[in-house]
Amino acid sequence: MDNRVKELLERVRNTAETVGTAAGNTAKQAGKYAGELLDAAKLNLQIFDLNNEISELLQEIGELVYNTHSGMPQNDDILLQKLDIIDGKKRQVEELREQINILKKAKVCPFCGADCGKEDVYCKNCGERL
Ligand SMILES: [Zn+2]
Repeated sequence: MDNRVKELLERVRNTAETVGTAAGNTAKQAGKYAGELLDAAKLNLQIFDLNNEISELLQEIGELVYNTHSGMPQNDDILLQKLDIIDGKKRQVEELREQINILKKAKVCPFCGADCGKEDVYCKNCGERL
C-alpha cells in the first residue's frame, strides 16, 4: 500500500478512542431529539437524510484518501473530523431506529399478545379489537 495512505490510516486508527467519546455525546443529543419526534414517518425521513449525509461524507473521505495517495498536501484533521461526524450520524440512525421500533410496538393485543402498531384498531394477528 502507498506509504502516505498507510500513515494516514494509522493515524485514523490511533484516534478511534477519541472519536468514540465524541460520538457518545452526539448520540445523547440525538436521543433527546428523537424523543421529541413522535411520528414514525418523521423518524424515517430523518434516517433517510442522515444516510444521505453519511454517503456524502464517505465520498469526501474517499477523495481525501485519494488525494493523499496522489501526493497532494492534506489536512488530516479534516478527515478525522469527517470520520467523527459519521460516527455521530450512525449513532443517530441507530437511536432513531430504536425509537421507531418502540413506536411500532406501542400496542399489545389483549387476546393473543401480538405486538401491534400504535395506530392499529384491530390486531394484525388475530383481528381482535385493540
Ligand atoms: Zn391478537
